[in-house]
Amino acid sequence: MNKVYAIIPAGGSGKRIGGGTPKQFMTFNGRELIAYTINIFNKCEKVDEIIVSVQPEYFELIEKIKLKFGFDKLANIVEGGKERQDSVFNALISLKADNEDFVLVHDAARPLLPQSVLDNAINTAIKKGNAVVAIKAKDTLVNGKEIIVNYINRSEISYIQTPQIFKYTTLLKAMQKARDESFLGTDESMLVTRLGETANLVQGSSLNFKITTESDVELFHQIVGKREIDF
Ligand code: C5P
Repeated sequence: MNKVYAIIPAGGSGKRIGGGTPKQFMTFNGRELIAYTINIFNKCEKVDEIIVSVQPEYFELIEKIKLKFGFDKLANIVEGGKERQDSVFNALISLKADNEDFVLVHDAARPLLPQSVLDNAINTAIKKGNAVVAIKAKDTLVNGKEIIVNYINRSEISYIQTPQIFKYTTLLKAMQKARDESFLGTDESMLVTRLGETANLVQGSSLNFKITTESDVELFHQIVGKREIDF
């Protein structure tokens, strides 16, 4: 049986929010944001191991979180890099995986990924070779920053989320190629499709938003205040 490794890049500084603590370590209802994210993967039966990349000053905090919540699948903590892509790469090269094993990448800053979306994504990857979670555009879309230049057909647009799941050997090849060519992508699908691979989209969820701005922090705060989350 092929293994499923979950990489959680959490090496960001959270500059877009401001303040000292990066968003993934801010606490909500007494739990660090990243604990909500790790919990999703720790609970998923299909996930074998979790690897987190963080800046070295947070190694100790992750160890504490692991003990506090009993995250037994959290197998390794690696050093985060300058960019998200570097943080994922550091985690990827730390794996002792077989070529056919699956590697899943999920942003630490998406703590409300529904288990059903995760299950679907893993099943699709097993069936089709890879899976990329996305949601369809629902607002009217335009080109233009201060005035509307023209309209974009939203029925053809999707917003890419995470998790994204690929065979270990494919992701490694894609990330090495990107490094060799100094190509910086904003996600893994961008790197894998550069190899000529077809990426399979899986239906995501609005709950799986990425906590990026102050209002995202506020929204997460309100949701965890009202929802019973099983740890
Ligand atoms: O910055 P962005 O919103 O794209 O970050 C997505 C995820 O990547 C976050 O969980 C963040 O902590 C992580 N990241 C990282 N290393 C960096 C920058 C971002 O692991 N250097």
